Amino acid sequence: MGRTIGIDLGTTNSCIAFSDGGHPTVIQSKSGSRVMPSVVAFSAKGERLVGLVARRQAITNPKNTVNSIKRLMGRRYAEVSNQINDVSYEIVENGNGDAAVRIMDRIYTPPEISAIILQQLKLTAEEFLGEEVTDAVITVPAYFNEIQREATKAAGKIAGFNVKRVLNEPTAAALAFLEPQGKKKLVVYDFGGGTFDVSVLQVIEGVFEVKATLGNTTLGGDDLDTKLVQWIMSEFKSETGIDLSRDNIAPQRVREAAERAKCELSMTHETDINLPFIATGESGPVHLEITVTRNLFEELAGNLIHETIPLCKDALDDAGMKIEDIDHVVLVGGSTRIPMVQKLVEEFFKKKPAQSVNPDEVVALGAAIESSVLTGQRKDLVLIDVTPLTLGVETLGGVLAPIIKRNSPIPTRNSRIFTTASDNQSVVGVHVAQGEREIIDGNRSLGTFELRGITAAKRGEPRIEVVFEIDASGILNVSARDTTTGQEQSIKVNPSGGLSGHDIERLRKEAAANAEADKIRLRFVAIRNEADEVIYKASKSLKVAREELDKESWTELENELKKLKTLRDEEDPLAIEKAIAVVRQLNSSVSKLVEVFESDEENATSEFLNSISKVEGEGNSAK
Ligand code: AMP
Repeated sequence: MGRTIGIDLGTTNSCIAFSDGGHPTVIQSKSGSRVMPSVVAFSAKGERLVGLVARRQAITNPKNTVNSIKRLMGRRYAEVSNQINDVSYEIVENGNGDAAVRIMDRIYTPPEISAIILQQLKLTAEEFLGEEVTDAVITVPAYFNEIQREATKAAGKIAGFNVKRVLNEPTAAALAFLEPQGKKKLVVYDFGGGTFDVSVLQVIEGVFEVKATLGNTTLGGDDLDTKLVQWIMSEFKSETGIDLSRDNIAPQRVREAAERAKCELSMTHETDINLPFIATGESGPVHLEITVTRNLFEELAGNLIHETIPLCKDALDDAGMKIEDIDHVVLVGGSTRIPMVQKLVEEFFKKKPAQSVNPDEVVALGAAIESSVLTGQRKDLVLIDVTPLTLGVETLGGVLAPIIKRNSPIPTRNSRIFTTASDNQSVVGVHVAQGEREIIDGNRSLGTFELRGITAAKRGEPRIEVVFEIDASGILNVSARDTTTGQEQSIKVNPSGGLSGHDIERLRKEAAANAEADKIRLRFVAIRNEADEVIYKASKSLKVAREELDKESWTELENELKKLKTLRDEEDPLAIEKAIAVVRQLNSSVSKLVEVFESDEENATSEFLNSISKVEGEGNSAK
């Protein structure tokens, strides 16, 4: 077996490190570079270029130069086609709905392109270490779902690595930053080229536990560049009347210059952009010369940078911590070099972010430390990760009953007891979903299965235990068991089930925006469920009463029951509640007379799984 290395496969740059006796060191290329641009290009002769050489020729060969491939990893074409429009290469659908890249009539999947980057990193490591490198720990954003993680693993395999672990970037940063001894709480604020995420971690005597992680997978340094590009182009247009966005090569040149200017503005207050021969006007070549100040950049991009702060607050809330509890704030990712980012983070956390780490290298160093844990060189560390969204099942009325809450440490197991919604119901449908909305429709469906052969019993009597179990690699197993008969059914689902980080963020935002509306709908669902319960009981006593009692003792109940049945489907909760109270009272008297007294006590469980069919074969399908 050869060496194991840690790889930070970044959107913009990648970095590798190895561990010697448990101490991590960054691996440099022959030319002394400690990071490599994550760029792949194909020349007209079909030659492959990787890293700095690929980036250097991007201006003259934009269509065949692929950058930021990480943004396409494990994503569906439909998701990215509208979202990613700032790249110069062609994004296509690869025939099965996944996003891919077309270069000179050949389609490359994102893992193939990433594999080219990884192969180059493998070569660099082998040159540096003077021995074969076979194994790797590769980092991914905490928000990557299972499919994106699998795609990253696939890229590693294509490149010839045995991928020993796919590790979350913030966890890697924490591993590199903190000594395992003692008890510390820290925040990792990671603002890179394509994504932002923030994680809250706690370390107690070598156990690194992620308490919460949140992010926005569509917010990164590239978006800040876009703001600057738009401003430069509009200034140029108002001065010269020339629209650079319609040119083939100019937008790429402006983007590169804007990024360079942005980076310079992290050190100086003012910088010049000079792009000679950027266009041809009526009287010959036109040059672009413009001065950008830090103030202007902050005005243009400030709103986007500010968007990261509420996520920090939410992550702390999710972790059950206050600002004062945090011992360290670690900055990761190139965009954290921006002075405004550092200032906002310091103001929010009331603490200077740690200065001792290099934001470009800390993740690779952490991955190298993890590799030394996996190879047994270090035995003083344990990692505990979390699941990013709530998981649960659909119950009657289309409500999500949570079983595993978001940010629960994995591996984890939890169960809840449910029951049937109709008499003699022999089948229940178990619909598994993921998301933060209380109403099922707003969440992501992960799969459905049926539990059959439930013993004939009155509605609400059977006890069906639904168990959710997530293993260390994040795979969810759901089982449902009739506790009387022992009948059991289960499925394995992928907790991210094709959810992209973008989806996760969208679901989170939608949940917050719809919380009020959901509450109203939930109230309706609860009232209608209660109405059904009362209608069921009253109908039962009426049936007996009709046979055994004088008409006048049950007519009123019959009339009020009719009213309740009509009202049940109307949008007037107060009227339904009133009608429920009236029927309940009348039914109590009638049922006592006919001795079918129904206790109003709640059943041990009052959560009804959605019915697939009342009686097997009837096909009364669930919504
Ligand atoms: P990463 O994904 O961590 O490699 O971060 C890359 C992003 O950081 C890109 O958008 C870069 O433009 C940005 N970046 C790198 N250095 C600086 C800097 N000095 N100032 C501002 N942004 C930077």
